[in-house]
Amino acid sequence: MLKMMSQRRRCNRFKGKGGVMMKNIVIIGGGYAGINLLEGLKKEFQGQIGKSVRVLLIDKNSYHFKKVLLVRAAIRDINLKVPFSEYCQDGIEFIRGEALTLNKRKQQLIIKVENEKTINVSYDYLVLAFGSIIRSIPEEIGGITLKDGHSALKIKEDLVAGMKSFQALGKSEQDQRLFKIAVVGGGIAGIETAAEIAVWSKEKLEEVGVQSSSVEVLLFDTKDRLLPDAPAKVSEKLINQLNKHGVTVKHKTRVSYWKDGQLFTSDGQNYAVETCIFNPGVEANPVIQKLDLPLTEQHKIIVNHSYQVKNEPHIYSIGDCALIVDHKNNQPDGMTCKEAIPQATRLSKILKAAINGVPLVILHESYPVKFFCISLGPNSGFMWTQKWGLDFTVTGKLGARIRNYTWDLASLHK
Ligand SMILES: Cc1cc2nc3c(=O)[nH]c(=O)nc-3n(C[C@H](O)[C@H](O)[C@H](O)COP(=O)(O)OP(=O)(O)OC[C@H]3O[C@@H](n4cnc5c(N)ncnc54)[C@H](O)[C@@H]3O)c2cc1C
Repeated sequence: MLKMMSQRRRCNRFKGKGGVMMKNIVIIGGGYAGINLLEGLKKEFQGQIGKSVRVLLIDKNSYHFKKVLLVRAAIRDINLKVPFSEYCQDGIEFIRGEALTLNKRKQQLIIKVENEKTINVSYDYLVLAFGSIIRSIPEEIGGITLKDGHSALKIKEDLVAGMKSFQALGKSEQDQRLFKIAVVGGGIAGIETAAEIAVWSKEKLEEVGVQSSSVEVLLFDTKDRLLPDAPAKVSEKLINQLNKHGVTVKHKTRVSYWKDGQLFTSDGQNYAVETCIFNPGVEANPVIQKLDLPLTEQHKIIVNHSYQVKNEPHIYSIGDCALIVDHKNNQPDGMTCKEAIPQATRLSKILKAAINGVPLVILHESYPVKFFCISLGPNSGFMWTQKWGLDFTVTGKLGARIRNYTWDLASLHK
């Protein structure tokens, strides 16, 4: 079947039902930006996909990966993989393959498919949604970086082993030393990891009759407060919530390394911790460096305010791999789903206008509301938003419900 596809693609034209020539949109990357773009295209081209418009999604995996839940998956059994068949309906096609290079002159993409074979995929419009990868921590620093399903599993194994040895200690020894874990990196993923681990550890200890106050999760961060984009009083409120869950925040502290249960910081302190987990943040997927496209110093694709790659009228890019700035104030978007989803919705309208030859100008605007939503374990959350200069925060069970809702929304679970 793939052979047939590549033969057809040589002429860069596809015939729909009744022999109509179709316009061909190819999307690479079925992360949050990619699947939300599919959703937008389904709405924009109602009934036209597979007839006058061909939409093809390419991803190196056969499933959409719910990255934002990686933190919870590190300790609880949850499935993060949603097969692309759930998104590729209504005539949308899918190929599992890894994008390797781009032939811009021929409007073709070279992808590696099963058995190391490569195929050429032609496009009229190409959307690059390669996303990001989690930054690497040099091996000599030790600890485990939470970066994918494998590292999540390793963290779980280490925590379970550490917990078993702690439970095996005599009561007096347990009282003397806490069950201590270190989480490094105070971004949202780091805050969520620290809270998830604290809640899980307390549950495990209570199950065997050990008091939950025996748990301490240390959250190390180099900045002087958490959530620097929110007012200081909001950061303080969050810290109070974290303290309640057994998380102690160490501000302005850089971790140097972790070895044999000892964590060393650059201010000369050391802490005895069972496990050390790094959440160092993300960077644009390095694969884009092979595509001969204009990139920023941070290796992100340079696009205009309508997501079109500089000097490439047929190529667009959204999500974590592109530098996208507001057309009014030139403020760059962050690397979050909250920002990738409206980009995808806008791009579906831009593609419709381009295909129909309608002179419609749609420009990027930043997410209109200041908003953070953070999970603090399965039954608690922390939400902050600012409206008319006023701060609104929601905590506890309602916060957790809003968090679950935002996660479901991002992965299009109705
Ligand atoms: C631990 C963690 C927690 C986060 N929590 C939040 C949160 O709470 N809220 C929030 O808004 N954001 C959060 N983010 C950020 C959010 O996950 C990203 O902003 C979002 O995933 C960006 O979407 P994307 O589609 O650009 O990229 P991605 O979701 O990274 O998707 C990229 C897709 O491209 C595919 N791909 C990559 N390379 C190739 C290739 N060579 N060929 C083919 N396919 C390829 C991948 O398989 C993937 O499906 C979190 C990120 C992390 C890492």
